[in-house]
Amino acid sequence: MEERYAFLAEWYDPSAALMRRYQLLYYPRDSSVEMIDIKNQRVFLRRTKYDELHQEDLFVGNRINVFSRQLNLIGYGNQYTADILGSKKERTLAMIKPDAITKVGEIIQLIYEANLIVTKAKMTRLSWKQAADFYTEHQSKSFFNNLLQFVTCGPVIAMELMGDEAVSAWRKLLGPTDSGVARKEAATSLRAQFGTDGTRNGAHGSDSLASAARELEFFFPSTTGHGPANTATYKDTTCCVIKPHAVSEGLTGKILGSIIDAGFEITALQMFNMDKANAEEFLEVYKGVVAEYTGMVAELCSGACMALEIRPPDGPKTFRELCGPADPEIARHLRPYTLRALYGKSKVQNAVHCTDLPEDNVLEVQYFFKILDG
Ligand code: GDP
Ligand code: MG
Repeated sequence: MEERYAFLAEWYDPSAALMRRYQLLYYPRDSSVEMIDIKNQRVFLRRTKYDELHQEDLFVGNRINVFSRQLNLIGYGNQYTADILGSKKERTLAMIKPDAITKVGEIIQLIYEANLIVTKAKMTRLSWKQAADFYTEHQSKSFFNNLLQFVTCGPVIAMELMGDEAVSAWRKLLGPTDSGVARKEAATSLRAQFGTDGTRNGAHGSDSLASAARELEFFFPSTTGHGPANTATYKDTTCCVIKPHAVSEGLTGKILGSIIDAGFEITALQMFNMDKANAEEFLEVYKGVVAEYTGMVAELCSGACMALEIRPPDGPKTFRELCGPADPEIARHLRPYTLRALYGKSKVQNAVHCTDLPEDNVLEVQYFFKILDG
């Protein structure tokens, strides 16, 4: 019999305001998919070749995109699939500490190269009490006060990472706790490259599945509460959205690196999964004005995006100039070092959205960091 993997998938159908459930079948031989509506046992999508879906993305807990629908994979359809695709998948909490915040691009690139994916991310600034709660296991240690002083001295970026043995894979990337030791024993590790000493060591990683569950709940609560607040300032800043195609192509780290290298400061950062209604509302000003409006909406709600609040450096340089012409083909001819020239594919999949009109700067930042993260 032909090899195939089976999943239980959920899709929120906005027009019916219903959560629909499907059996999703994936055939690796020709990378085709088939979907069966569980409620009425009818074929919803006949077996169809779909090259954008990769076997690495198929595991429970992940969100995938099938023909513009964002599906949550909530269970394995059979033991065979669970054994082959599910056994090693884990989630862990990574936190970039204040000393390495400007290295976020390089760090996310390292994560991507290690075959882990960033499924949630949020920049926040911890209060003393929040930091004490987070590090409660260390409250009796001599270094506790120093540690809290350090992690509350500036913003941090919390991320959920997913992948094979994510807990130990991320700890391995981090290297030894003390950055001085790391430089001797693991020179290519993150703490060796981006940390300073025993306290200021660049980043944090959960040390077990149990602490990963607790620490993920701390930053990204699954039920009640909101978690630590975002860091948006709404002052002399503009909005950038790294589009879903770029996020899923693993370009997030490179794009963040290019933005920071060009002298811009990232004052807030968060990942969102927009639904169609949100995307339409956010892109409202382009409706009837830009021919690609429908495509832009479909792209923006096709998967996770990363919203940024950006503060330009002193002087005349604007973030729009760094993004470049909306069409990547034109950008590659006229402005080869702009973000769209470097990372865009088409007018719709042009890597980044940026605010077009100065009067919309605050509104667009607010849309993500006040309304969607409300
Ligand atoms: P980790 O899991 O590798 O981060 O290490 P621990 O859980 O043991 O410690 C948490 C954090 O406290 C470390 O990342 C350091 O920032 C800090 N820390 C740990 N041990 C020491 C120490 O001996 N001296 C100082 N000054 N800081 C430490
Ligand atoms: Mg620890």
